[in-house]
Amino acid sequence: MLYIVSTPIGNLKDMTFRAVETLKTVSLIAAEDTRHTKILLDHYGITTTTTSYYDQNERVKSQHILSLLKDGKDVALVSDAGTPGISDPGFVLVRLAQENGIPVCVVPGACAAVAALSASGLPSHAFIFEGFLPVKSAARRKKLETFKEESRTLIFYESPYRILKTLEDIVDVLENPTIVCAREITKKFEEIKKGPAQDLLKHFTAHPPKGEFVLLLSTGRSSNA
Ligand code: SAM
Repeated sequence: MLYIVSTPIGNLKDMTFRAVETLKTVSLIAAEDTRHTKILLDHYGITTTTTSYYDQNERVKSQHILSLLKDGKDVALVSDAGTPGISDPGFVLVRLAQENGIPVCVVPGACAAVAALSASGLPSHAFIFEGFLPVKSAARRKKLETFKEESRTLIFYESPYRILKTLEDIVDVLENPTIVCAREITKKFEEIKKGPAQDLLKHFTAHPPKGEFVLLLSTGRSSNA
């Protein structure tokens, strides 16, 4: 069995009982960064062996993990934070397991996009999760252009180093929509700020953005707005 196990996005207490039990009982944990995951494993007294599984070795490592699964071993996949496969490595291994008749079992839990959406107060009946926007402004603006007529709530992950530039592009291309910046969710400095994109741009210009961010916006075209 291949287990896809969600881990916390900041607060170590956001680990499910089943996630702890699964990580304790599998033969191997494939982790994006084994040193990072060790902090979580130590916290819960989990002594299972880990191996690295990250973007650059995903294809080669998937074959190795597949051979273990074929030998009847149980393997769990975790990422640095949240749900594997969501802007994180994972889907290559899941697809390979499926193609080889290995059962895949999900142990769900934290995901920054869903946590932010549920606390955003934006229409949540339908949404688009876009992951990270392009780093270069021209490509980012082009991508934002495609959302001009979008009625569903949009969710992006963004680095604190690019927030200001991205907000500038959003103000410009999407005509100052209502935006939510969900920062450091579940952590000490958690902050959820909502308002016209222009206002949030002013706020973060005065208070330089720090930590991890989810940006959510609604163009106001939703019938549920
Ligand atoms: N797999 C993860 C998930 O399920 O949410 C996402 C991994 S992605 C590489 C990391 C990005 O998720 C960060 O750059 C940030 O945009 C967002 N993120 C992760 N943890 C967060 C948190 N505690 N608060 C706000 N955003 C977070």
